[in-house]
Amino acid sequence: MTKLYLLLGGNLGDKKSVFAQARAILENTVGKIAAQSALYETEPWGFDSEDLFWNQVLEISTILSPDEVLQQTQKAELSLGRIRKANQYDSRIIDIDILFYGDRIINQANLIVPHPRIQERKFTLIPLCEIASDLIHPVFQKKIRQLLNECTDPLKVAKVPDFP
Ligand code: ADP
Ligand code: MG
Repeated sequence: MTKLYLLLGGNLGDKKSVFAQARAILENTVGKIAAQSALYETEPWGFDSEDLFWNQVLEISTILSPDEVLQQTQKAELSLGRIRKANQYDSRIIDIDILFYGDRIINQANLIVPHPRIQERKFTLIPLCEIASDLIHPVFQKKIRQLLNECTDPLKVAKVPDFP
Protein backbone atom coordinates (compact mmCIF):
# COMPACT_ATOMS: atom_id res chain seq x y z
CA MET A 1 0.00 0.00 0.00
CA THR A 2 1.26 3.45 -0.87
CA LYS A 3 0.00 6.77 0.44
CA LEU A 4 -1.09 8.80 -2.53
CA TYR A 5 -2.10 12.46 -2.53
CA LEU A 6 -4.35 13.77 -5.29
CA LEU A 7 -5.55 17.30 -5.99
CA LEU A 8 -9.03 17.73 -7.45
CA GLY A 9 -9.76 21.01 -9.22
CA GLY A 10 -12.65 22.34 -11.25
CA ASN A 11 -14.63 25.46 -12.00
CA LEU A 12 -17.50 24.31 -14.20
CA GLY A 13 -20.88 22.68 -13.72
CA ASP A 14 -22.40 21.53 -10.45
CA LYS A 15 -19.10 21.40 -8.58
CA LYS A 16 -20.50 19.76 -5.45
CA SER A 17 -21.87 16.89 -7.51
CA VAL A 18 -18.82 16.64 -9.81
CA PHE A 19 -16.45 16.44 -6.83
CA ALA A 20 -18.63 13.82 -5.12
CA GLN A 21 -18.66 11.74 -8.32
CA ALA A 22 -14.90 12.10 -8.70
CA ARG A 23 -14.32 10.87 -5.14
CA ALA A 24 -16.65 7.91 -5.73
CA ILE A 25 -14.89 6.93 -8.98
CA LEU A 26 -11.44 7.25 -7.37
CA GLU A 27 -12.52 5.13 -4.42
CA ASN A 28 -13.64 2.39 -6.81
CA THR A 29 -10.63 2.51 -9.10
CA VAL A 30 -7.61 3.80 -7.12
CA GLY A 31 -8.19 2.98 -3.46
CA LYS A 32 -9.82 3.93 -0.21
CA ILE A 33 -9.87 7.62 0.68
CA ALA A 34 -8.04 7.78 4.02
CA ALA A 35 -8.35 11.55 4.47
CA GLN A 36 -9.81 14.48 2.61
CA SER A 37 -9.44 18.23 3.02
CA ALA A 38 -12.32 20.65 3.03
CA LEU A 39 -13.37 22.11 -0.30
CA TYR A 40 -11.59 25.37 -1.06
CA GLU A 41 -12.60 28.16 -3.39
CA THR A 42 -9.84 29.84 -5.38
CA GLU A 43 -9.43 32.56 -7.94
CA PRO A 44 -8.33 31.06 -11.28
CA TRP A 45 -4.54 30.70 -11.62
CA GLY A 46 -2.92 31.75 -14.88
CA PHE A 47 -6.03 32.93 -16.70
CA ASP A 48 -9.17 35.02 -16.16
CA SER A 49 -12.55 33.42 -15.59
CA GLU A 50 -15.66 34.44 -13.71
CA ASP A 51 -16.09 30.98 -12.25
CA LEU A 52 -14.15 30.39 -9.06
CA PHE A 53 -12.18 27.18 -8.86
CA TRP A 54 -12.82 24.55 -6.26
CA ASN A 55 -9.95 22.43 -4.97
CA GLN A 56 -9.71 19.49 -2.64
CA VAL A 57 -6.83 17.23 -1.62
CA LEU A 58 -7.39 13.50 -1.05
CA GLU A 59 -5.13 10.99 0.68
CA ILE A 60 -5.71 7.55 -0.84
CA SER A 61 -4.17 4.20 0.10
CA THR A 62 -3.43 2.46 -3.17
CA ILE A 63 -1.93 -0.76 -4.46
CA LEU A 64 -1.68 0.66 -7.99
CA SER A 65 1.61 1.69 -9.59
CA PRO A 66 2.12 5.40 -10.39
CA ASP A 67 1.37 4.76 -14.09
CA GLU A 68 -1.79 2.87 -13.22
CA VAL A 69 -2.88 5.75 -10.97
CA LEU A 70 -2.35 8.22 -13.84
CA GLN A 71 -4.37 5.97 -16.19
CA GLN A 72 -7.23 5.83 -13.71
CA THR A 73 -7.23 9.56 -12.92
CA GLN A 74 -7.25 10.38 -16.64
CA LYS A 75 -10.11 7.92 -17.20
CA ALA A 76 -12.00 9.57 -14.35
CA GLU A 77 -11.43 13.04 -15.87
CA LEU A 78 -12.76 11.80 -19.21
CA SER A 79 -15.77 10.04 -17.76
CA LEU A 80 -16.68 13.24 -15.91
CA GLY A 81 -16.75 15.03 -19.25
CA ARG A 82 -13.56 17.00 -19.30
CA ILE A 83 -12.94 18.68 -22.65
CA ARG A 84 -9.30 19.37 -23.44
CA LYS A 85 -8.68 22.71 -25.12
CA ALA A 86 -5.63 24.15 -26.84
CA ASN A 87 -4.92 26.53 -23.96
CA GLN A 88 -3.33 24.67 -21.07
CA TYR A 89 -5.08 26.75 -18.42
CA ASP A 90 -8.67 26.34 -19.49
CA SER A 91 -11.91 25.97 -17.63
CA ARG A 92 -12.69 22.32 -17.10
CA ILE A 93 -15.12 20.03 -15.36
CA ILE A 94 -12.46 18.30 -13.29
CA ASP A 95 -8.68 18.13 -13.20
CA ILE A 96 -7.02 15.42 -11.12
CA ASP A 97 -3.32 15.88 -10.39
CA ILE A 98 -0.99 13.45 -8.65
CA LEU A 99 0.79 15.42 -5.92
CA PHE A 100 2.75 12.67 -4.13
CA TYR A 101 3.11 8.92 -4.50
CA GLY A 102 4.67 7.93 -1.18
CA ASP A 103 8.12 9.51 -1.18
CA ARG A 104 8.86 8.43 -4.75
CA ILE A 105 10.50 10.85 -7.19
CA ILE A 106 9.38 10.19 -10.77
CA ASN A 107 10.57 12.08 -13.86
CA GLN A 108 8.88 10.52 -16.88
CA ALA A 109 7.68 12.34 -19.99
CA ASN A 110 4.05 11.76 -19.00
CA LEU A 111 4.37 11.85 -15.22
CA ILE A 112 6.33 14.04 -12.84
CA VAL A 113 5.98 13.31 -9.13
CA PRO A 114 5.98 15.17 -6.80
CA HIS A 115 3.86 17.46 -8.95
CA PRO A 116 6.28 20.21 -10.04
CA ARG A 117 4.13 23.17 -8.99
CA ILE A 118 3.00 22.18 -5.47
CA GLN A 119 5.26 24.77 -3.81
CA GLU A 120 4.02 27.64 -6.02
CA ARG A 121 0.31 27.31 -5.40
CA LYS A 122 -1.61 28.10 -2.26
CA PHE A 123 -4.67 26.33 -3.66
CA THR A 124 -2.63 23.15 -3.40
CA LEU A 125 -0.64 23.88 -0.24
CA ILE A 126 -3.54 25.08 1.92
CA PRO A 127 -5.74 21.96 1.52
CA LEU A 128 -2.64 19.74 1.64
CA CYS A 129 -1.51 21.38 4.88
CA GLU A 130 -4.94 20.70 6.37
CA ILE A 131 -4.45 16.92 6.10
CA ALA A 132 -0.66 16.48 5.76
CA SER A 133 1.18 19.41 7.35
CA ASP A 134 4.07 17.18 8.53
CA LEU A 135 4.53 15.37 5.23
CA ILE A 136 8.06 15.91 3.92
CA HIS A 137 8.42 16.91 0.28
CA PRO A 138 10.96 14.36 -1.00
CA VAL A 139 12.67 16.81 -3.38
CA PHE A 140 12.90 19.89 -1.16
CA GLN A 141 13.16 17.91 2.11
CA LYS A 142 10.77 20.37 3.74
CA LYS A 143 7.44 19.86 5.47
CA ILE A 144 4.29 21.02 3.71
CA ARG A 145 3.76 23.52 6.54
CA GLN A 146 7.12 25.10 5.78
CA LEU A 147 6.48 25.22 2.02
CA LEU A 148 3.19 26.99 2.75
CA ASN A 149 4.93 29.52 5.02
CA GLU A 150 7.43 30.27 2.27
CA CYS A 151 4.90 30.46 -0.59
CA THR A 152 4.29 33.95 -2.00
CA ASP A 153 1.26 33.08 -4.20
CA PRO A 154 -1.06 36.11 -3.78
CA LEU A 155 -4.32 34.42 -4.88
CA LYS A 156 -7.02 34.09 -2.25
CA VAL A 157 -7.96 30.59 -1.09
CA ALA A 158 -10.99 30.24 1.21
CA LYS A 159 -13.09 27.33 2.45
CA VAL A 160 -16.29 26.84 0.49
CA PRO A 161 -19.14 28.10 2.67
CA ASP A 162 -21.64 25.49 3.95
CA PHE A 163 -19.12 22.68 4.00
CA PRO A 164 -19.55 19.90 4.88
P1 ADP B 1 -2.64 20.72 -15.80
O1 ADP B 1 -2.90 19.72 -14.71
O2 ADP B 1 -1.23 21.28 -15.74
O3 ADP B 1 -3.66 21.80 -15.87
P2 ADP B 1 -3.38 18.59 -17.63
O4 ADP B 1 -4.29 18.09 -16.57
O5 ADP B 1 -3.94 18.80 -18.99
O6 ADP B 1 -2.70 19.97 -17.20
O7 ADP B 1 -2.15 17.61 -17.66
C1 ADP B 1 -1.27 17.57 -18.73
C2 ADP B 1 -0.38 16.33 -18.64
O8 ADP B 1 0.37 16.36 -17.45
C3 ADP B 1 -1.08 14.98 -18.56
O9 ADP B 1 -1.28 14.46 -19.84
C4 ADP B 1 -0.10 14.10 -17.74
O10 ADP B 1 0.50 13.09 -18.52
C5 ADP B 1 0.95 15.08 -17.29
N1 ADP B 1 1.40 14.95 -15.93
C6 ADP B 1 2.71 15.02 -15.55
N2 ADP B 1 2.84 14.90 -14.23
C7 ADP B 1 1.58 14.76 -13.73
C8 ADP B 1 1.08 14.61 -12.40
N3 ADP B 1 1.89 14.59 -11.33
N4 ADP B 1 -0.27 14.50 -12.25
C9 ADP B 1 -1.08 14.55 -13.33
N5 ADP B 1 -0.67 14.69 -14.60
C10 ADP B 1 0.66 14.80 -14.80
MG1 MG C 1 -3.91 17.84 -14.52
